[in-house]
Amino acid sequence: MNLLVKNALTRDRKLVNILIEYGMIREITNKKLKEPEQTIDAKGSLVTKSFISPHNHLDKVLIGDIIESNESGTLWEAIQKTWEVKRNYTVEEIQKRANQVIDQQIKYGVTHLRTHVDIDSIGKLRPLQGLLAVKEAYRDIIELQIVAFPQEGILKDEGTENLLYSAMETGADLIGGMPHNEYTPQDSQRHIDIVFDIAKQFNVDIDSHTDESDDPNSRTLQYLASSTIKRNYRERVTVDHICSLAAQNDYYASRIIDLVKLAKINVITNPGTNMVLQGRLDSYPKRVGITRVKELLNAGVNVTCGQDCINDPYYPFGKGDMLEVALLLGHAAKMTTQFEIETLYDMITYNAAKTMGISDHKLIVGSPADIVILHGVKTINEAIRKTPPARTTIRKGKIISKTSITENQFYESK
Ligand SMILES: [Zn+2]
Repeated sequence: MNLLVKNALTRDRKLVNILIEYGMIREITNKKLKEPEQTIDAKGSLVTKSFISPHNHLDKVLIGDIIESNESGTLWEAIQKTWEVKRNYTVEEIQKRANQVIDQQIKYGVTHLRTHVDIDSIGKLRPLQGLLAVKEAYRDIIELQIVAFPQEGILKDEGTENLLYSAMETGADLIGGMPHNEYTPQDSQRHIDIVFDIAKQFNVDIDSHTDESDDPNSRTLQYLASSTIKRNYRERVTVDHICSLAAQNDYYASRIIDLVKLAKINVITNPGTNMVLQGRLDSYPKRVGITRVKELLNAGVNVTCGQDCINDPYYPFGKGDMLEVALLLGHAAKMTTQFEIETLYDMITYNAAKTMGISDHKLIVGSPADIVILHGVKTINEAIRKTPPARTTIRKGKIISKTSITENQFYESK
């Protein structure tokens, strides 16, 4: 079925009609077009490429409802608090929670998601089985990429290395990492070596949680980035969090940023989660907790941002709205100029797509019709500021969700 999105306002403030044929954008014009089988009138609202959600933990979302809260607020307590729930996971229960969050993200305009899934001796492969079933169920609706994630470490958690190989054979799309969760720096390096061995064997990309710590001595990014170059894995590695980069001295940090750029590594910062997890041992001033976002962007590194957690021991908030993630990052990274606000929007569309290996996620003729209409909104600034709930999500030229809101005002505006 063909679709016309008429009266669409683009990011560069042009009012256009967008013709979609066979799931692709066929024409973008200010001329009137003959209406095909289906037409949606954007009524002058902002229309852009859809949102890309590059960092989630769908196996753990919403467990905050069935678990006691994280009293210290730290990453380490969050990991431990989750063990009990992980022991009792069932495939069906994981599916149910993940589906709920995916449905919500679709309503917010998301068409592509990457999720990590815990692979360890506690839950073994059950979380992966749950998310593979989710991926299959949503196959025609969204793209879901699954990262096999050694949350509990590889050397620290006996049996995990074998489980990671099994996870890749079972159908995980990428190999993950957590090198800062090992007993010694030597073990962290061995952890990274194992991750690269698996990546090479299965010819998959790497997406590794890295240095999610306030400790300036957490320095696994350097070894990971140098391994990326030495092992010929440029453009195939993504690192998440890298909070300790913000705690390191400016000279060391600038050397590492150069190395990350040279290795063509993507960076995902997760502002919501890190603003609450980090700085817990600080007295005052308490640090914000995120990495050096502006410095990485200025160096030309591809940086995006993620939701990470939703209602779990790591982060009790979150709803999967990438506009909210951009809003939080705007605060945390102090990105407030017009150029920086436009960059925030790039980060949840174009940059996130690049991270997930989706080429050219721009509103141009010949690209896939993965689109969001932000009803009632005219500018990028307004979109991030208001995070409006009324949105239409189009995936491969098909309307997959539409949310409307009714506002009633029982007085005259003054
Ligand atoms: Zn994460």
